[in-house]
Amino acid sequence: LPEYAFIGRSNVGKSSLINMLTDRKSLAKTSGRPGKTQLINHFLINKNWYLVDLPGYGYARVSKSSKKKFQKFITNYFEQRKQLVSAFVLVDIRHKPQPIDLEFMQYLGENEIPFGIIFTKADKLKPQAIERHVAEYCQELLKFWEELPPYFITSSSKTIGQEEVLGFIEATNNEIEQLKSH
Ligand code: GDP
Repeated sequence: LPEYAFIGRSNVGKSSLINMLTDRKSLAKTSGRPGKTQLINHFLINKNWYLVDLPGYGYARVSKSSKKKFQKFITNYFEQRKQLVSAFVLVDIRHKPQPIDLEFMQYLGENEIPFGIIFTKADKLKPQAIERHVAEYCQELLKFWEELPPYFITSSSKTIGQEEVLGFIEATNNEIEQLKSH
């Protein structure tokens, strides 16, 4: 089944977003390979795709060597997942583009892994500020990328953006199905 991986800096709101997307129900939690279960979680959605919950990166208080191990763990996932359709990189809508996120997107690009951006915690900004922050982010991206990735504005506490993200995934799955049947 197709997989969509969710990743971002710790505290970006990933767990809350996943709760919103999965509605806390209709999900079956499956464990990954033994020994790795505590780091990667798979959620089966609508019986036709997996939401993959990857560990958060950029913990401030861990040693360099454990940061390295962690990076290796995440890159291993991306290098091995054949079912991966797209990653979603979560960024807090209040923050300016962070080097660690931009570098991570760069990494995905270099490895030809499609990705979208999910701006989280939109309820924390007024509409005008949302627009300004997103525009600034897009401007920064266009320094490195020829095209903007698909992006979504979400709030888990106000349930914003749920249909957009899920609709995008369903539409992508339909396209994959159509390609297969031709
Ligand atoms: P994770 O570490 O990326 O999984 O982040 P969490 O989902 O645990 O959220 C980190 C903190 O941000 C928690 O205190 C959440 O209550 C808060 N948070 C997450 N999503 C939202 C949101 O959409 N709006 C607001 N206002 N707070 C949020």
